[in-house]
Amino acid sequence: MLRDAVPYLATHGLRPLQRFFPDMLWRMDVPDGDRVAYLTFDDGPHEGITGRLLDVLEKHDAGATFFLVGANAKKHPQLVRDLSAAGHAVGNHTFTHPDAWTLSGRDLTTELDRTTQTLEQIIGRRVRVMRPPYGHPTGTMRRWCDARRQRMVMWDVMPGDYLRTATHRDVEHFVVRHTQPGSIIVLHDNPICQELTPTALDDILSNLTAEGWSFPAL
Ligand SMILES: [Zn+2]
Repeated sequence: MLRDAVPYLATHGLRPLQRFFPDMLWRMDVPDGDRVAYLTFDDGPHEGITGRLLDVLEKHDAGATFFLVGANAKKHPQLVRDLSAAGHAVGNHTFTHPDAWTLSGRDLTTELDRTTQTLEQIIGRRVRVMRPPYGHPTGTMRRWCDARRQRMVMWDVMPGDYLRTATHRDVEHFVVRHTQPGSIIVLHDNPICQELTPTALDDILSNLTAEGWSFPAL
């Protein structure tokens, strides 16, 4: 079923790439058996979902990393300050969420520079991580990350919370089943997920923290 195929492809289909792109971070290197995993949220901040995600994270004493779209951050600087003040990490997810595979190198560089500048101005701290929209990296992006000392962060668990057919139960089960020590889990801080993702996150954290997992920011 397509409903199941997309998360499996996004989670397992990318594994062969990891060998060829060691500069990208696919999973954190943690000691064997350490129940530590990393939650990440893409596309925010947005009214109506970011605040709810922050409440759920606080309830479970969990940290996360938010890969923010610069234009959204500019529109909602207080949400950016809130999540940074709560101890979560802030990452670059470009300024307008373009597909880097269809963009000139110059336009992509502008997107990336503008976003880091916007975010650093709001939070008053260095941004150290970026994630490509649609998971589409390019050579320009990799060189930019290297020059600006920002780590490109990919993932090893992508449950597909943005899929129209997903349910919060599917997402919860997928994450609980696939999380391993050091896993980087992708969820979305996006209005299309605002019904599903906060509920799924609450269930994921109830489940995994009861089994001894902890969730630091990157
Ligand atoms: Zn995105």
